[in-house]
Amino acid sequence: MPQPGPLLGCIADDFTGATDLAATLVGNGMRTVQLIGVPDAGDAVPDADAIVVALKSRTTPAAQAVADSRAALAWLRRAGCRQYFFKYCSTFDSTPAGNIGPVADALVSDLDCGFALACPAFPTNRRTVYQGHLFVGAVLLNESGMEHHPLTPMTDANLVRVLSRQTDGTVGLVAFATVEQGAAVIRDAMTALKEQGRRYAIVDAVTDGHLRAIGAAAAAHPLVTGGSGVAIGLPANFRAGGMLPERPDSAALPAVSGHAAILAGSCSRATLGQIAAARSHLPTLELDPLATPNAAQLADQARAWLDGRLGSAPVLIAASAPPDRVAELQRRLGRDAAGALVEQALAAIAGELAARGVRRLVVAGGETAGAVVTQLGVRSLRIGPEIDPGVPWTHAEGRLPPMWLALKSGNFGAPDFFLKAFTAQEDAR
Ligand code: ADP
Repeated sequence: MPQPGPLLGCIADDFTGATDLAATLVGNGMRTVQLIGVPDAGDAVPDADAIVVALKSRTTPAAQAVADSRAALAWLRRAGCRQYFFKYCSTFDSTPAGNIGPVADALVSDLDCGFALACPAFPTNRRTVYQGHLFVGAVLLNESGMEHHPLTPMTDANLVRVLSRQTDGTVGLVAFATVEQGAAVIRDAMTALKEQGRRYAIVDAVTDGHLRAIGAAAAAHPLVTGGSGVAIGLPANFRAGGMLPERPDSAALPAVSGHAAILAGSCSRATLGQIAAARSHLPTLELDPLATPNAAQLADQARAWLDGRLGSAPVLIAASAPPDRVAELQRRLGRDAAGALVEQALAAIAGELAARGVRRLVVAGGETAGAVVTQLGVRSLRIGPEIDPGVPWTHAEGRLPPMWLALKSGNFGAPDFFLKAFTAQEDAR
């Protein structure tokens, strides 16, 4: 029963969200490849059950987010996907101008499907939806700290209202009492809402059991929208339909051999703790951008330090610093210039590491990871085993020889993340 091409085509509104979704799909038995940015028309379709196109469309102007998302959808349709998924944040990060509503409107229109469910719930991360209201742990979204988010302040937890402000369509609710009754009842409730002319249904979900039932109820929906949580129910539909074989090896990656390294540009508390835990175990270079506020010179320091150091153990190179030192560099150079300087240095060092035969690289920091991926010319990541929740090893293809990359958003990972990343990898081989 081998299926001829990808089944699920996904569009994610940011990079780490895309990886989170991809890891969820791999965990539920779909071989998954993440593509960075809208693929070119001539790009080969990867051999995978699911493809996740990672966009940067969460906070771009709505027109740009819509254009990129439509281009991604068109590419995924040409690739022959059977169902489409629009992934946004489990805290529904958006403003009255978008971009969840405008992008979903465009996808519904292009797929001519008239309706899509919307469910950001992610119970594992304590995001639940009850009576249409989004909770973060025990508090409503608008009391969770998200009301102060610099770009997408969430001041209303009622998702029916929030989404209604972003669309010219209308929004209904499939509430908890219906969801509790299982897939068939949820499916009928969504069909009824569609027949009443609703374009969207916010669907309550408090447990993974609810998410699986919602996934089953959406088996025939051309478009599903939500957080990564609601995707846990979708692979089973393809298996039930005879399109997806059992894949005990969905997280298998092509082997690579070479040196190993860690590059840290995140200054989050979690990353600083991970550096502290690794420092006494691994050869470690801590760059000081305050003493050397020059990207080329920082990269030169790393080059000199690397001579003779790449061997069997991973090396750690970090620019990370505690808040007072970060603030000082920002005060001297300006916030953006300080960030860009360090990102440039770390990207150059990543290029150097690859040139010197590093083939397994952990990168800490979302923006840092973006700079590294751009420098290495990486366009495609095959998703492998998770090191910690939300951070899988990936097999990267691009300009340089294939490498394994683990791209860690700053706050993710346990204190021993840098040490266990390579142990977990040995286990996965
Ligand atoms: P996170 O995922 O923790 O937010 P990012 O990589 O997205 O990490 O952001 C961290 C930012 O801090 C990057 O722009 C990085 O270049 C910058 N940075 C790293 N080290 C320093 C430092 N010592 N001083 C100032 N800025 C730094």
